Amino acid sequence: MENSNLRNYEIDTPQYVLYKDMHKNQDLEFVTKKKQQYSQLTNKIMNIKDVLNKMNEFIDPSDPDLDESNIIHAYQTAERIRKKHPDNKQLQITGLIHDLGKILFTFHEPNWAVVGDTYVVGCKFPESIVYYDTLQDNKDFNKYDKLGIYKENCGLDALHLSFGHDEYLYQVLLQNKNHFLSKQYWDIIRYHSFYPWHTNNEYHYFMNETDKDILTNVLDFNQYDLYSKEDTEFVLTDEIKTYYDDLLDELFPHDLQW
Ligand code: FE
Ligand code: FE
Repeated sequence: MENSNLRNYEIDTPQYVLYKDMHKNQDLEFVTKKKQQYSQLTNKIMNIKDVLNKMNEFIDPSDPDLDESNIIHAYQTAERIRKKHPDNKQLQITGLIHDLGKILFTFHEPNWAVVGDTYVVGCKFPESIVYYDTLQDNKDFNKYDKLGIYKENCGLDALHLSFGHDEYLYQVLLQNKNHFLSKQYWDIIRYHSFYPWHTNNEYHYFMNETDKDILTNVLDFNQYDLYSKEDTEFVLTDEIKTYYDDLLDELFPHDLQW
């Protein structure tokens, strides 16, 4: 898996345009405003299966490796996990639902506030961020030093990450108390797009003890999320659909506030 053709980002592609807009607009002020707005969960009451089915309509514009709709990506990720972890139903469901925060598209959020790698606002931007140069358009560029508004070892939970589908679904899982998915899986969802941290080893000075476990879990998860995109032969069968419908009924028996 080491030599991969995945995640190659070139200039003047749709990905470049998306990141340019994201890097210009996602500053500390924007992020705190969006977090405040969406943590109210006043958009809709929906069953998680309806949200999954809506993913039929989305192809992730930030992803250079994906031209399937997001529902196929959801089942592929879950199936990769099921092969490796046949007894871990919570992790399988995490694979299935991890991108459902992309429902933000239906609330008229622009692509750059829904998808793409996340980064911390309110401190210096590390140079390993994809398309780093475009961060010069951010009004917080040069405003903060390495720690910025945070303290060393404050924990990931204290950080403001650029807003998108990760944080939104995390808030849905955190605040709806009527489901049975455990917290360690919400954390995987919350940080799965945080590539500067989990893959480029940035920001580790903000981590506390529990974040080390989160990192291990996120890195394990990432291989199923990323490389599932290389299963070009994948067919969504009735067996697969029924298997996950049953699991969703078990873990999410009630509608959720979104
Ligand atoms: Fe994602
Ligand atoms: Fe994904």
